Amino acid sequence: MTEVVHTPRVFSGIQPSGGLTLGNYLGAIKRFVDMQESGIETLYCMVDLHAITVWQDPADLRHNTRELAAGYIAAGLDPSKSILFNQSQVSAHAELGWLFSCIARMGWMKRMTQFKDKAGKNAENASLGLFGYPALMAADILIYHSTHVPVGEDQKQHLELTRDVAAKFNHDFGVDFFPMTEPVIEGAATRVMSLRDGSKKMSKSDPSDASRINMTDDAETISKKIRKAKTDPDALPSEAEGLKERPEARNLVNIFAALSDLEVDAVLRDVGGKQFSEFKPMLVDLAVEKLSPISTEMARLMNDPAEIDRTLGEGAARARAIANPILEKTYDIVGMIRS
Ligand code: ATP
Ligand code: MG
Repeated sequence: MTEVVHTPRVFSGIQPSGGLTLGNYLGAIKRFVDMQESGIETLYCMVDLHAITVWQDPADLRHNTRELAAGYIAAGLDPSKSILFNQSQVSAHAELGWLFSCIARMGWMKRMTQFKDKAGKNAENASLGLFGYPALMAADILIYHSTHVPVGEDQKQHLELTRDVAAKFNHDFGVDFFPMTEPVIEGAATRVMSLRDGSKKMSKSDPSDASRINMTDDAETISKKIRKAKTDPDALPSEAEGLKERPEARNLVNIFAALSDLEVDAVLRDVGGKQFSEFKPMLVDLAVEKLSPISTEMARLMNDPAEIDRTLGEGAARARAIANPILEKTYDIVGMIRS
């Protein structure tokens, strides 16, 4: 079989499951904007079908979906350059998701750490959707034959599963149809940690608001959260090596590096030897400088929800134009009559 070369295409998504966090910005959105400028076709999505794997109040879901769209645009995504849309508006995601639920194996799903983290001790009471989440995520990506997916480090395992699904589908049906997607996990802050607990990822769904910086937080709130962030009593080291056993210190330095587009070592050359009492105000200033223009623009965009909905509608039409032919071809490969 000759190997099909897939045209480069970038896809990624974020759940409208709460306010956007600094982790989402540094690990995902900032990378999305970089890739938009790379000349490759880019598709970015509000993955509402994923959000409802845990309970979402309908009014909140609607608000969070629009606010997430506003966040994407305010951070630099240009809907005329990138295809920006809402997952549930392109039904091919759910349809391919079902086909992939029949490809993925129970054993693969049981290894997924996100399910274990989110279901916690009460796994019997988690939704079936939360368990099957990675099969839908594989569909989100592969319905566009996406070759590159920018994500935070926490999604690496799901990207590996996406490749497993593609490989098994291709093997089972004797085709070379779905590409082997590459995760793009880059930058100094691929895993921003909770400000309260250096062993836990910062998440928009964390019950503690103090654990995260929200993109909509004002300067005073950002300042309060960073000043209260858990640290240790030592001064900052001059090299990255010195942060190895210091998760909270490493987290704040990584955030500083990512916000200023510098390498961690370059930051430490500057701030090495400083106490947190000196470093934290520097981080506050930097975070406010970078985030406040984005939150101001988000608020402005949120004044006109109809305009956001219109933008998403246009994006969805463009997304469907790519996804539907791939879905039809998939149904044909599987043996379904569609006339
Ligand atoms: P939830 O708590 O509802 O899962 P979340 O904050 O984890 O929300 P997601 O919508 O699950 O956000 O993930 C969106 C993108 O943001 C993904 O690419 C994910 O890898 C990235 N991301 C999430 N949290 C972080 C983090 N703490 N650091 C870096 N990237 C992150
Ligand atoms: Mg998450």
